[in-house]
Amino acid sequence: MAWDFETEPEFEEQLAWMRHFMKEEIFPLETLGFGYDQLLRVIEPLQTEVKLRGLWAAHLPPSLGGMGFGQVRLGLMHEILGQSALGPVVFGNNAPDSGNAELLAVGIEETGREDQRAQWLQPLLDGKLRSAFSMTEPETAGSDPTLLQTQAVRDGDEYVINGHKWFSSNGSVADFLIVMAVTNPDVHPYQGSSMILVPTDTPGVDIVRDVATMEHPEATFGRFGNHAEIYYRDVRVPASNLIGREGSGFVLAQQRLGPGRIHHCMRWLGQSRRAFDMLCERAVSRTAHGSLLAEKQTIQNWVADSLAEMHAARLMTLHAAWKMDKEGASAARMEIAMIKYYGASVLFNVIDRAIQVHGALGFSCDLPLEHMYRAARAARIYDGPDEVHRQTVARRTLRNYAPHEVPSEHIPTRREAAKRRFAELLSQASADL
Ligand SMILES: Cc1cc2nc3c(=O)[nH]c(=O)nc-3n(C[C@H](O)[C@H](O)[C@H](O)COP(=O)(O)OP(=O)(O)OC[C@H]3O[C@@H](n4cnc5c(N)ncnc54)[C@H](O)[C@@H]3O)c2cc1C
Repeated sequence: MAWDFETEPEFEEQLAWMRHFMKEEIFPLETLGFGYDQLLRVIEPLQTEVKLRGLWAAHLPPSLGGMGFGQVRLGLMHEILGQSALGPVVFGNNAPDSGNAELLAVGIEETGREDQRAQWLQPLLDGKLRSAFSMTEPETAGSDPTLLQTQAVRDGDEYVINGHKWFSSNGSVADFLIVMAVTNPDVHPYQGSSMILVPTDTPGVDIVRDVATMEHPEATFGRFGNHAEIYYRDVRVPASNLIGREGSGFVLAQQRLGPGRIHHCMRWLGQSRRAFDMLCERAVSRTAHGSLLAEKQTIQNWVADSLAEMHAARLMTLHAAWKMDKEGASAARMEIAMIKYYGASVLFNVIDRAIQVHGALGFSCDLPLEHMYRAARAARIYDGPDEVHRQTVARRTLRNYAPHEVPSEHIPTRREAAKRRFAELLSQASADL
């Protein structure tokens, strides 16, 4: 009977080190407003420390310089790193580079194209190159990628790409883009779409803007974490830039998104915990109407509900990670879909309560909560809108039920059936009376 909620002492020690490192070395940097290049210089010694500790790019298998941790341990790690947007960058596993490295690695494994390892994968892992994932288009519903319109047409030894994308995160600071495009319009998109690596300086790649968002309302160009709008006009790249096999775009996307969602959910829990700590600290510090906020039942409800919701989300996410480690991403599809929408709502609720308990201070930019709140809103949209994940869960669940004209729990019907079944027993019982 293996049903164990313990972390091995050696790994717990690593987690304790990460907690301390985040609080002491990384949180203070958040307040200094560094530009991207400055930031990279400032965090270099911290990244060296992470490497010495054997925690760099831990999402990758040992053959690629990672630790082969598996999803449960990675999940526990992301819960700590996710407390700050800088955490994953310092630990070499920030999105979208981490997911893109996994895509390249899976593609190389499939095709044996070792040249891609030397040219793109290794420099990406070393933090020498930056990448973006370019799939969503403004004209088609991103929640249904079978509608993608971007085309890549084979012409001799090259692909010629034409299309319009947006929300390619980090596109404007990336060295290369991984573009999802239709390579064969005559078959179902599941078999006719491919991922192709496009260096950003290829003629025809036109990064027109970084889209201002709720998280970063002021329009800036070339900032880490921005979301680029990009036109691809007759962009020619060597056919050898194909990732995996032609037509494998959807299979690759699934492999990338499963672990990514677990890491997202654990990072959201890190954010939730930070907001929760602020909520509790304020509750025991502020007095109104004759008592501390902590002594008012509404505030106590927020504390209790937030803790229970975070605990539920954490157990659900670690269970999804455990299932993925044991049985693979496809077997854990339901669990992963559930944590996506459940985790996103917990994040939002906890930050919202933390803002409320701080009053005007919570709404102000003197606390990180208002930014956390704006960033949290996107969690319900990216990686597939919540509604799509709910639909997956509902559809798969409902498959296990058959229609019944009369509900199978209908008491009068059940009573009649029971009377027929136990007729002998009933007549004996009434004779005994
Ligand atoms: C912060 C952020 C970062 C992102 N980063 C990237 C990136 O790096 N690369 C990239 O390619 N894309 C990225 N995206 C885009 C993201 O993947 C898409 O926004 C997402 O897939 C939804 O697509 P859409 O915006 O076109 O919305 P649509 O597909 O138009 O959906 C709009 C709404 O329709 C509703 N809806 C859709 N389907 C259903 C359904 N089946 N049932 C009920 N309701 C439904 C939902 O409410 C949904 O929110 C990012 C988005 C955000 C916000």
